Amino acid sequence: MYDLKRLEDRKIIGLERSFDIEFEGFKLKGIIDRVDQKGDTYEVLDYKTSSALKVDTLKNYEKSSDFQLEFYYLAMSEIYKTDKVNVYYYDLHNTKLIEEIALDKKLELLIEVFNSLKEMSNKEISFNKCEDKAVCNFCIYNTICDR
Ligand code: SF4
Repeated sequence: MYDLKRLEDRKIIGLERSFDIEFEGFKLKGIIDRVDQKGDTYEVLDYKTSSALKVDTLKNYEKSSDFQLEFYYLAMSEIYKTDKVNVYYYDLHNTKLIEEIALDKKLELLIEVFNSLKEMSNKEISFNKCEDKAVCNFCIYNTICDR
């Protein structure tokens, strides 16, 4: 019923839409559950079944490590060549859409995260074997590590 109402003035233009883009030197790949179109605006919907679904707020987004909707925004804005893209979780438990309200701020944060990853990859990384050998029993590399 909720969807029937929504689809009175918009249409579904994509289901299980895959994407493969590059952003800030990183490859982003994924599959978007659904894309709706209303006029010249695209709406990206990611289905979620959790009963306690939340998005980041403008107060707490700085601690976020969840950029799923930002990746979807970047993909759709590149594919459809527009910034008129809104991204939502589709809360199936409560049948409602939850918009990513901190999108712009989180996109800025994502660029910072990618830049710090680039900086880290330019620094020397220590590959010394770990001190506590007990850890090696559970390590997935212990068959190839010369411990
Ligand atoms: S086996 Fe794993 S944990 Fe142990 S030294 Fe090698 S890489 Fe490190």
